[in-house]
Amino acid sequence: MSLPPPARVHIIGGGLAGLSAAVELAPQTQVRLYEAGPSCGGRARSYYDRALETEIDNGNHLLLSANPYTFRYLDLLGARDTLRTPGAALFPWYDLRDGLAWHLNLGRGRVPYWLLSPHTRVPGMRLREMAGLRNLLRAGPGEVVADCLVPGEFSRRLLEPLAVSALNTDIDSGSAQLLGTIVRRTLAKGGKACQPWMAARGLSRSFVTPALDWLKRCHAEVHTGQRITEIVREKGRITALNSASGPIRIGRDEAVILAVPPVVASALLPEVEAPDAFESIVNAHFRLPVSTRAKGVVGKAGFVGLVGGMAEWVFLHDRVLSVTVSAANRFADIPSEVMLNMIWEEISQALNSVLTTPLPLTRPRARLIREKRATFAATPLQARRRPGAATSTVNLALAGDWTDTGLPSTIEGAIQSGLAAVAALGFRSGYSKQD
Ligand SMILES: Cc1cc2nc3c(=O)[nH]c(=O)nc-3n(C[C@H](O)[C@H](O)[C@H](O)COP(=O)(O)OP(=O)(O)OC[C@H]3O[C@@H](n4cnc5c(N)ncnc54)[C@H](O)[C@@H]3O)c2cc1C
Repeated sequence: MSLPPPARVHIIGGGLAGLSAAVELAPQTQVRLYEAGPSCGGRARSYYDRALETEIDNGNHLLLSANPYTFRYLDLLGARDTLRTPGAALFPWYDLRDGLAWHLNLGRGRVPYWLLSPHTRVPGMRLREMAGLRNLLRAGPGEVVADCLVPGEFSRRLLEPLAVSALNTDIDSGSAQLLGTIVRRTLAKGGKACQPWMAARGLSRSFVTPALDWLKRCHAEVHTGQRITEIVREKGRITALNSASGPIRIGRDEAVILAVPPVVASALLPEVEAPDAFESIVNAHFRLPVSTRAKGVVGKAGFVGLVGGMAEWVFLHDRVLSVTVSAANRFADIPSEVMLNMIWEEISQALNSVLTTPLPLTRPRARLIREKRATFAATPLQARRRPGAATSTVNLALAGDWTDTGLPSTIEGAIQSGLAAVAALGFRSGYSKQD
């Protein structure tokens, strides 16, 4: 006979993994969530930046339509319409090396019609480079992305930028198997799976506020500013959580989901083997003196991908241009001012011809944010250090983008991991093992 599910679940960590678990559990049982920071959202949240005098996201986030758990979460919360999309698998690109602008429209179906004509393909690509995709789909656990790619413009202009931004790890060390999973769920399924989506008015309005509203309606408790400093265990079960405001007793019929970053998880539970190497992401935000809009495909997409320089993705908001630089450990020694100037030059080159109002000649007010541990380094070695949701402590489950989701560190992985933890504790959840 299986045991009844716990009467209360305590969730440590209010990032998207913890929120996903809380949202799923709240209609089923009592939920208490503890978040160390002043607000929930973790690495996917918005905040007001005083220097720029506007709200920004701590990092630009791009989602693809092949993120089923993310859309399920948003639909449950009634928040899908807080995202925007060009409505097609449309990706504008600009090559800084040779000043070439082009775009990819992957269509809707599985058949890659875009490959049939040199006008719709990646410029300069040779069809034999497509073997790189097959190699990624068949990659073993020890292979890195560079082992799989066939040199050429398809790799340089599409697969490498895709790899670096999806894995947040360079192609010489990034896991080919993890990238293969992304390819299997996106490019291999056709344009319908590759439509880009972004938070229209900030990550918190899409992913955090609707979740907190839902939790309130379900009478769940959310305690921000409450850092859990110790997990007390007796005879294989958690009996208390310690925090600065005193111990929290965990009853025999209660359980815990630990949804904190890997370094914190290993500090609280020394036996947990978790990723211990990380990659940073740099985001540069430029506050424009006047509003500007982009014409044509860039205007429709709301972003542009750059190759051949430092900047990788530029997101266009009304008076803010936000730029992402992934796998950014390599730029750790470059001073922020220098990086801002380099990025400003690159985006001026890429955007000026498509903007309704050209960018100012001198760089405007700007902010550079380095998320030092933005994601775990998605290498084959680190991939082996990812634990599943279930643990040997009977009333404990793990969640977080770093657990064994089969995906790199992503919103989709974080939300999926929350559901896997809920299932591991014996509750109903939308989780089913994929791939
Ligand atoms: C700059 C940047 C850009 C990104 N871009 C993308 C993108 O384009 N697409 C995409 O899908 N993903 C992207 N990601 C990844 C995505 O943001 C993460 O995968 C996801 O937000 C991780 O959620 P999480 O809940 O697993 O972890 P976290 O967000 O780290 O949440 C953990 C929470 O635990 C809290 N906590 C820590 N210690 C304690 C404690 N002792 N007690 C209580 N609480 C504690 C933390 O404060 C935090 O709120 C990006 C990440 C960054 C940083």
